[in-house]
Amino acid sequence: MQRRAIEVSGVVQGVGFRPFVFALASQMKLNGFVQNRSGAVWIEIEGDESGLNCFTDCLRRQPPPLARIDNLSWNPIPLRDEDQFRILTSESGARAPVFVSPDLAICDECRSDLLDPEDRRYRYPFVNCTQCGPRLTITLRAPYDRGQTTMDPFVMCDQCQAEYKDPNDRRFHAQAITCPKCGPKLSLLDQEGSVVESSDPISDFAVAIGQGRIGAMKGIGGFHLVCDAANDVAVEMLRCRKHRDEKPFAVMMGDVNSVKRSCIVNRAERDLLESTPCPIVLLRKRVDGNAIPLSLAIAPNNAYIGVMLPYTPLHVLLFDVSGHQPLVMTSGNRSDEPIAFEDRDAIARLAGIADIFLVHDREIRVRCDDSLTRVIGGCEAPIRRSRGYAPMPLRLPCPSPKPMLAVGGQLKNVFALASGANAFLSHHIGDLESLQAVEAFRTDVQLYEQLFEITPAVVVHDLHPDYQSTSYAQARANRESIPALGVQHHHAHMASCMAEHQIDGDVIGVIFDGSGYGADGSIWGGEILVGGYESFVRAAHMRPVRLPGGDKATKEPWRVALSYLADAGCDVEEWLARADGGKPGAVEFAIVLQMLERGFNSPWTTSVGRLFDAVAAVASVRMRVSFEGQAAMQLESLGHDVHAAETYPYEVDANVKPGLPIQLDTRMLIRAVYDDHRDGVGAETIGRRFHNTLSSIIVDACCEIAGARGLDRVVLSGGVFLNALLSTQAANALAEKGLQVFQHRVVPPGDGGLCLGQLAIASRRLQ
Ligand code: ZN
Ligand code: ZN
Ligand code: FE
Repeated sequence: MQRRAIEVSGVVQGVGFRPFVFALASQMKLNGFVQNRSGAVWIEIEGDESGLNCFTDCLRRQPPPLARIDNLSWNPIPLRDEDQFRILTSESGARAPVFVSPDLAICDECRSDLLDPEDRRYRYPFVNCTQCGPRLTITLRAPYDRGQTTMDPFVMCDQCQAEYKDPNDRRFHAQAITCPKCGPKLSLLDQEGSVVESSDPISDFAVAIGQGRIGAMKGIGGFHLVCDAANDVAVEMLRCRKHRDEKPFAVMMGDVNSVKRSCIVNRAERDLLESTPCPIVLLRKRVDGNAIPLSLAIAPNNAYIGVMLPYTPLHVLLFDVSGHQPLVMTSGNRSDEPIAFEDRDAIARLAGIADIFLVHDREIRVRCDDSLTRVIGGCEAPIRRSRGYAPMPLRLPCPSPKPMLAVGGQLKNVFALASGANAFLSHHIGDLESLQAVEAFRTDVQLYEQLFEITPAVVVHDLHPDYQSTSYAQARANRESIPALGVQHHHAHMASCMAEHQIDGDVIGVIFDGSGYGADGSIWGGEILVGGYESFVRAAHMRPVRLPGGDKATKEPWRVALSYLADAGCDVEEWLARADGGKPGAVEFAIVLQMLERGFNSPWTTSVGRLFDAVAAVASVRMRVSFEGQAAMQLESLGHDVHAAETYPYEVDANVKPGLPIQLDTRMLIRAVYDDHRDGVGAETIGRRFHNTLSSIIVDACCEIAGARGLDRVVLSGGVFLNALLSTQAANALAEKGLQVFQHRVVPPGDGGLCLGQLAIASRRLQ
């Protein structure tokens, strides 16, 4: 007989780890105990050697599905001759990294309890167990125990208590355990926030939605705005009340079969739809005659639509009573504001939008938007990593010597805390463009520091002086007398992809995005960097053009088109005469031409995001956009549908000046697009040829650089690589040249992934 002390660290709390250990030990007739010790799980167990080996092996090889074991170590300790296996209450005070589990979609077993008339939780919208339910969003403090969650005020009834204590029950130690007798309750409110009498709030809410009204519904991480996805009037009304021009709404559908009636779904997409995080998955709309149509106002002029499945018991019941009609389910906010998650605030902010509110009395502690993802080349490419993923820690390639905060960028902000090898990336905070968004950023940074018990000794930020996140970082560093470390935007993109794949040494980083502050103060966005975490050099970049009107040009691609056309020596008057799709008036046109000539308010940029805009405008696909990336998305879906192998001419000019970066010259490309449009070539073909060309430019430049510098690894990062057509083409073509290609699979290639790169670079620099 022997006794072992086993310590397991990683994601081991709030994922049913202790009950799992208990069941395993009982099954193998081993005695001892298991205990949570702030971040790690501590097991003491005794039995004969082979039994103990088998137990340790099982733990290592088949942990519970939601757990992630980073480290498992054991030591022999003296026997105690115990006669049973016990679960001890959590010990606090021990210093180990703290983990908080992401929120988990309802599991199959809870779903059947929910729909089983014999079950005592039949139709109870807050059913959950050790394998499902809210986690991050209800956690007040770590470690995860009922008393440290917003479930604390609900005192367990005898039956729940008994299940909670029964090691053979599925809800053994389920911290959010609850039932109709002892748990949260739903209520229905009107626009003023007064209670509407209702014996069945879900059905009454469903009836209102069915009548074409707009509802607001309290979910896991905040409020959703809900309406009938097939009702044009309702969707248009929501769009108008929300002040959201053309940005797509997400749709929730009852199950995969109903998704298939409106969208094309492949195996990988289906798996993602049904995965535990239950994200919104970007899918192609079906356009055949048998497709069940949804309102065109959901994603206007867009071949894609974001779809998710019900992930809370409340959603399941709503679909059950409403006959499985697809529902628009979009974040409860006015455009550009953070998602509302507190009852009073939600009612105040959403009163002008929603006609009716379905709320409950379980408090949301941490706001958390839905995650958004897509499949590229059979693999997941995250667009927004939030609910269901955050705050699952990622591993840094080299451990951070000090606790750090990386504040991310300005748009699609996500921040991250580092402690040792762990990077805790926040949920999606959003664009730091409104006062409320900046306030949410500050509040949530504070919340995470408290939750993870991390006090930053270093703050890491972008080099852009006007980013709200940069100002915050610098002010904080001043106030607390700690160092602030600036990291170049595209270097951070490159490092985030490297960190995700745990690669080290020098690589080639193809970083294409909308904009980022360059090392020379100009706007970068079409960069090929060479380097590693420590440092980088700019090996190549797109030919710079002027951005007439600065930020205004981001909303009005025709301005960028004009700049590119003029640069390429095309006849801009002739182009304007034949262009359509919201082209500018003569006066506006003349003003912009003058701005270009004088260089007034027209910063230089190498942005590939803007190049997409320019090509879309030259080909009359789109002259104005209502959100960034809209024109690119349209070009991608146009190009997706045709098979054109041609590429436009371009120049990879390695001999600009010795020692200077290679210039990727787009003038011939623009002239060819201009000619194609004049000759009546369809936008699909132009779109396809443009993608072929960009991919070809990437390959030529990378081969040139790889040869000159003896490198063979290429990372693709930056928001442009959310483009499936370009990503797939470029990755395949690079691989054909014998280069090793790395793409984002865990964090977004866009600015939502910056904070991981910032941490990876800073932790290396501090060593
Ligand atoms: Zn469950
Ligand atoms: Zn109960
Ligand atoms: Fe960026």
